[in-house]
Order: sequence, then structure tokens, then C-alpha cells
Amino acid sequence: MTPRVRARSTALLAIGGLSAALLASLLAAPAAPATPAAGPAPGPAPLAGMVIALDPGHQLGNANPKFADEMAQTRFNGYETKACNTTGTETASGYAESTFNWRVARYLKVRLRQLGAKVKMTRDGNSYSKWGPCVWDRGKFGAKVGADLLVSIHADGAPGAGGGFFIFVPSVIDGWTDDIAGPSQRMGKRMLRAMADAGASVSAYMDPPLVVTPTLSTLNFSDVPAVLVELGNMRDPGDAARMTSRDGQKQYADWLLRGIRAALRR
Ligand SMILES: [Zn+2]
Repeated sequence: MTPRVRARSTALLAIGGLSAALLASLLAAPAAPATPAAGPAPGPAPLAGMVIALDPGHQLGNANPKFADEMAQTRFNGYETKACNTTGTETASGYAESTFNWRVARYLKVRLRQLGAKVKMTRDGNSYSKWGPCVWDRGKFGAKVGADLLVSIHADGAPGAGGGFFIFVPSVIDGWTDDIAGPSQRMGKRMLRAMADAGASVSAYMDPPLVVTPTLSTLNFSDVPAVLVELGNMRDPGDAARMTSRDGQKQYADWLLRGIRAALRR
């Protein structure tokens, strides 16, 4: 200890014998009163009049053997025949994609409503005692509720591949997606850019990160513009840490919100 510090300590101790820490806390300025939160901005809400269909991918009960028959139903999607649904992926510690998708969708729903949008969800719970809906019903859901956009929320599972998000959009299949492929691809492109600008890291292993595909039933059965977002890689330790924390899930919802706003900008 230097002599100077010792002298200062002695001086502090001399004031009524208070400890340095206690004295410092007594001398600290009182916290400034919190400034009142700003009220809502004037003018129409930015997403007023918009209807967004949110599809939290999978369902916990899809892994329940009791629903094996329901899961095994198949349907042709314009390109290939696929089953009703799958269980989804999970983190190395067993956190289910279904649960992650559900939580992000719930946070996103609140934020979209705050901006004036109407939000409809393809499933109303996340439970081991529920299954589906099947991917064809998820795809048809957007038109059923008159949505401007269907956003299917997922996470990938690719061991050792690194993290980051990417977006699937439908390719043109005559009689199936020829009506929505163009707008879906444009909206997906805008979403990708806006999410990246907001700080979401773009997948390094999916190149390009906007994947135009004929394979996904959720997209092919849609009659409104549709995108399927793989928000990250559950097998990447960094992504998994974010995906399993409440703050991380809210961060994903915020990134999606930025993407959806950009997609719907006229
Ligand atoms: Zn998935």
C-alpha cells in the first residue's frame, strides 16, 4: 500500500469511525428519478391492417408414440410425398426445437400486436399430449386466416457446422406455388437483409442463406407469401446458449420482427 493511500484511508476512518465502503455509499448521489416512458408515437400503428400467420414449427407431442399413426399420414406436396410432421431437432442437452419455436412465436406475437398487426398461430399450445398440425394444414393456414404473410419458425440441427440463421422460400411449382413464389422470394430477401442488419448472424454453412426450394410442404401448400426461417443451429454451442435463454428467445423474436417489418414495407 502506498503512503498516499494509507493517509486517505486514515482520513476516512477518522470521520465518525465509518468504514470506507459505508461512507462511500452514504456520499453517493441518490438515484435520479426514472424518466417517464414516452407515450405511443402519434399516427397509425406501423402494422395496422396487416395479418401475420405465425407457424411455430413442430409440436412436443409429435415425439409421443401414442401419435405415431397421425405422424405417419402422408401427402404429396407438388414435388414429393411427405409425412404429416416430424419431432424437430434439439440442443445437445435435449432442449426441443418445438419448445424454442413456440417461445419465440409467443414473444413475437406480442411485439407484432403492439405494432398494430393481427396475429394468428397455427398451434395453440406446446405439449407432449398434443400433435401437429400436419405441414399441409400449416401451409394452408395463411390463406385460411387472410394473412399477408406466413412465417414458419424453426431451428436447424447440424452438428459441427457453426451457427447463424437462414431462410427457405418456395421455388415455382406450376399449380402449386406459381402464385406465391415471387412475392415469397422478395419478402424472404428483405427479411434476410433486415435481420442481418439488426445483428443476427447469417449462417456460414448454408450458402446462399436464402434457399429457394421445392421440397417444403409448409411453403408449397401456402396460398399467401410464405417464408420458413431456421433461426439458428441448435447443435452449435453459441446458438444453443442463446436459444435456451429467455433473453435469447426475445432477441430472436426482435430479429424476426425487424425482418417481418422489412418484408411488409410497401
Ligand atoms: Zn424444424
